[in-house]
Amino acid sequence: MREDPVVLVVEDEPDIRELMSYHLTKEGYVVLQAEHGREALQILKAEQPQLVLLDLMLPELSGIEVLKTIRYTWAMTDLPVIIVSARTDESDIIIGLELGADNYLSKPFSPKVLVANVRALLRRAAQRPQEAVPDEKIQVGKLRIDGERHEAYWDKALLNLTASEFSLLKLLASSPGRVYTRNQIITAMRGDDYPVTERSIDVQVASLRRKMQSGSSSIKTVWGIGYSFQEHP
Ligand code: CA
Repeated sequence: MREDPVVLVVEDEPDIRELMSYHLTKEGYVVLQAEHGREALQILKAEQPQLVLLDLMLPELSGIEVLKTIRYTWAMTDLPVIIVSARTDESDIIIGLELGADNYLSKPFSPKVLVANVRALLRRAAQRPQEAVPDEKIQVGKLRIDGERHEAYWDKALLNLTASEFSLLKLLASSPGRVYTRNQIITAMRGDDYPVTERSIDVQVASLRRKMQSGSSSIKTVWGIGYSFQEHP
């Protein structure tokens, strides 16, 4: 049994692959490398890494195809996946997030951001219960959510939220560090009693931030993409 977490780096550019591997190895992770999508799937099956860093533009099989296989064909819904992409591929990033990637990094990225993202997602995966239990109680840093009572507290103070603000906060806080696209938020909040639009989500985020006061910066705007809850902003 390996004790250090195993991370798979899927990247066809050798320089970037080596750079990522270097920084992750230095942090104590065991790093596996794949040069293209097909190899990534072989390694995933054989080695069962705990996290995948997935370039989108890959030979043999694209990152999007690899992600589809992970999430749909194999139903590995809990495996943390960070997509890595050029900044210009915003629409691919959105597709990746909507296919179930947890987060993304745009190239070029700083090694610190890379390591921080890997660490945050592995910590969250370790905390997640194996069985899907309803996350009626959420505690992330100073935020506490009681789903049954529809109450949210920041630093022990009850937040006076509307029903939709509560749902939005609960969604984001249920997966700290995960980036939600506006579309995903709209889909998740449909069924609540009001029309949800991209604009209404922005308005609700602004209102939530006002009400959370010192906690306002924990709701992070991911420019052009959506929102994310950060435990340590
Ligand atoms: Ca590439």
